[in-house]
Parts: sequence; structure tokens; C-alpha cells
Amino acid sequence: MVSRVIPVDSFDLVIFGGTGDLARRKIFPALYRRFISGQMPEGSRIIGAARSDHNALEFRALIGQAIREFGGAAAQIDNKLKEFLDNLDYVTIDAKGTNGWSELAGMVRKDLVNAFYFSVAPSLFGPLAERLHAHNLADQTSRIVVEKPFGRDLKSAKELNAILALHFDEEQIYRIDHYLGKETVQNLMAVRFGNILFEPLWNSQYVDHIQITVAETVGVGGRGGYYDKSGAIRDMIQNHLMQLLCLIAMEPPSRFDPNSVRDEKLKVIRALEPVVPHHIVRGQYDATQTEPSYRDDAGDPKSRTESFVALKCEISNWRWAGTPFYLRTGKKLKARASEIAVVFKDAPHAIFGQEAGRHRNILIIRLQPNEGMTLGVTIKEPGPGGMRLVDVPLDMTFADALGPEAAEAPDAYERLIMDVVRGDQTLFMRGDEVEAAWKWTDPIVQGIAERHDVPKPYKVGTSGPDDANLLLKRDGREWREIRE
Ligand code: NAP
Repeated sequence: MVSRVIPVDSFDLVIFGGTGDLARRKIFPALYRRFISGQMPEGSRIIGAARSDHNALEFRALIGQAIREFGGAAAQIDNKLKEFLDNLDYVTIDAKGTNGWSELAGMVRKDLVNAFYFSVAPSLFGPLAERLHAHNLADQTSRIVVEKPFGRDLKSAKELNAILALHFDEEQIYRIDHYLGKETVQNLMAVRFGNILFEPLWNSQYVDHIQITVAETVGVGGRGGYYDKSGAIRDMIQNHLMQLLCLIAMEPPSRFDPNSVRDEKLKVIRALEPVVPHHIVRGQYDATQTEPSYRDDAGDPKSRTESFVALKCEISNWRWAGTPFYLRTGKKLKARASEIAVVFKDAPHAIFGQEAGRHRNILIIRLQPNEGMTLGVTIKEPGPGGMRLVDVPLDMTFADALGPEAAEAPDAYERLIMDVVRGDQTLFMRGDEVEAAWKWTDPIVQGIAERHDVPKPYKVGTSGPDDANLLLKRDGREWREIRE
């Protein structure tokens, strides 16, 4: 299978914060890979913008180095890299001052697609939007891209939305959640809405429960101070896991267009019940012989911020009433693995008798590693000696099923940046969606603070604190093992 490259119009893309960590590790390597794939039209240009003083040549050298470091195998093709870097320009600019703005206004070509990527702290979103407007840089066809975190609660998210709305229409604002750009996440929609097989079973009558796990092996390391102000609920649940929950639970949209899809996701968030305290388990990783504990990493021996959380959520609508959704995410767990597991109910009548055991169908959607899907089905164990049942996986690892190109499919940032150029908002969060997600998350975070809850310690390399297992055990269920 050969992946198709869909042409896009020529563009001028300005990356505010072009010298920062995100730009160097993700944005420029992603753009470079699109260039290699032939998707960057001739005449397009990427302009880095930050306060540090660089000329275009120095900036190209800086980005060249970043691409060699973070760009994977493609980055080692020297002549291609040079060709790409020739499309880069730089402007020294102050988002909060006057410096650099007229230069930028002179650089951006109005007859092309104009996109402005705000890869800077959220406190600069307002000043940037204001100045883009004041310098006539943004018109009705311009787009802005903003990064998470989009607020730290409902109030701040509303403030950010209001600031951006002063200068841009909602159709011009692209709020990135890179999870939505992952191949499997989109495949989730293809599987649900492109097949007749699953949809009739996709409800509380047939689904016992759903588990969503995003497990990491890394700790918070050098960014402990920053992380300690947010924690796993704000950093992961409010955005990434919530987005996965929406895609798995939403009603079929009438069309695959941005607002039809996002309307359905919003309905899911609005139907979420408040989470009761005993359905929340939080944890902090312990120290090992050689590695610091979460509290050491955070630089606060009394920190109450969680590096792990498990939650039980309920969606009050016709489709899902009575089916729990269990979400968990954490740092320094036993494997780096993200998956959604749809666990179906038992067959209504056990014709093979109790001794055949309990067998359930499970659909597993793997986000990483080995993106793909597995359907656990029950068959007869081969051989004589009566009817013994055994569960086997119907496995579809995309790289195996679709050929090696599938493994080289564009990564999330590649896809999402090209969607911005294309003007397709389907995989970006709408303002009301973000606010609804905070409206649900705020009472969870506030309740924890008011109760002075202390996270439970857990050992590095495990599945989190024991209480997370009890959360499911109380309901007669168990988590799937976290493994790569
Ligand atoms: P960073 O490494 O601190 O980079 C910040 C960038 O902003 C630098 O290029 C900096 O360059 C520029 N900048 C700072 N103040 C400025 C001003 N007044 N005017 C113009 N430019 C200014 O931060 P980052 O990690 O790249 O993160 C950028 C954004 O993405 C943040 O909102 C972050 O939360 C979000 N994010 C980051 C990651 C990640 O993996 N890094 C992941 C998800 C989301 P100068 O100092 O030269 O001006």
C-alpha cells in the first residue's frame, strides 16, 4: 500500500516560539517529514519568531541541528535537509512589545494561506492575537494554532477563548490535542462508522465496560516544577483521555465534517456525571534505589499533586446508562502503552456449561506502541476431549495488515499541521468542547483540594497504587494488564 500525498495550497506559516522546545522537537521535524513526502508546495515558507536575536542563516542552523536530533531516519538525508532549511526565515519579535512586528508584516504574503502557530506560553496568546490584528497580519482567511494547556480551569479557559474571540472567529482557531492526530484515533471512527459490525453492539446492552489507559514509563523529570502545578487530571484526563472517551462514546455524526463531529463529542462531555470521591484514585511514584520519587522530582516534599490517576465515569444517556468507563493514566508505570478496551458482556446463555469458563469478547484499540486493533474471540480449543473453549486474538497490527508504509504514516503533528493549512478543523477542539471538559474536571480537582486528599504512593514499574485495582474489583471487574 502506498500512502497518498494530498496536495495543499502554498502557505506562509509563522511559528511564534520557533526556537522553543516544542518547535524544535515536534513542529519542525514534522514539517520536514511532510517536505520529504512532497507535501510542502513550492514557494511555501516557514518563519520562526521569538525574542532571541538570530538571522535566517543562524536560525536554519539551529533548526537543522534539531531535525538531525529529533527528525528520525529522514533527517539524515543531507541534501533534502538543506533544501528544506532554505524555506525557513526568522524574525526577532517580542509578543508583548513593538519590536519586530513591522518586519513580520513585511514578510507574510497575503496571497497565500497564512497560519500562525502560537508555540508559546498561554499568557502570550492574547498579546499575539492583538498584535496580529493591529498589524493587519490576520484577515478572515488566516488561521491560528494554539497548544495545550488550554487553561487550567473553566475560568481561565473562558478567558483565553474570550481573548482569542476578540480577534479571530472560531473557524480560524485550531486548538491542538495531538492525540486526535494519531492514526489509531482516527481509525476508531473508521471502525465504528465504516462497518456495520460493531455499531449495533456499541451500547450498554452489550458492552459491560470500557477501559482507557495511557501509561508512561518516564517520570516528570526536569519539568517537575511545572508539572506539579497541574498533575495527571489536568495534564492528561481533561484533554487526551477525555477526547478518546468522546470518540468511543459519541453518536454517529451525520457527516464527517468538523462541526458535526464536534457537536457529537460535546454531547458526550455534557452527559458525563460528576465523579464521586470514592471513584477517584490518585497516586505518586516512590523513589527507587537509583531514581528520585515524584516529590523529589517536583521539588516539594509535601506535594499533593498526582502522577497517577484512575477514575470511574458514567455517561447519562440512552446509549451508555449503566456502562462504566474507567480511565487511568500515570507516570513511571510498568510499560509505555496506550489503549482503549471495549469489554463486551457475557453471552446470555452458557450452552457449553460452567466448566467451559467465562469468555468475553474484548475489542482492543492500541494507540501505542504497535498501533492496531485486536478482537478477542472465543473458539474451541483444538483436539479431542470435548468442548473446551479458548480465547484467541484476531489481531490487526496496522504495519502488518497494510504494509510497512503504514508504520511510516504521518505522525500526529504532521497530519494536524497540514490540516491547518487545508483548513480542516475536524481533529481540533472547539472552544465550547474545551470549556465543557473543564466544567466537568473543575469539581474533581476542587473536591480533591477541599478534602486535602493525599495521593497514594506506588512503586515504579507497577500498574499504580493498589487502590486503583480495588476501584474495579469492587465492581467485579479487573484492569487489563499494562504491557507493550
Ligand atoms: P519553551 O521551550 O519555553 O519555548 C518558548 C518559546 O517562546 C521560545 O522560542 C521563546 O524564545 C519564545 N518566547 C518567550 N517569550 C516570548 C515573547 N515575549 N515574545 C516572543 N517569543 C517569546 O516552551 P515549549 O516547551 O516550546 O512550549 C511552548 C508551548 O507549547 C507552551 O504553551 C507549552 O505549554 C506547550 N506545549 C509544549 C510541549 C512540549 O513538549 N514542549 C507539549 C505540549 C504543549 P525567546 O526566549 O527567544 O523569546
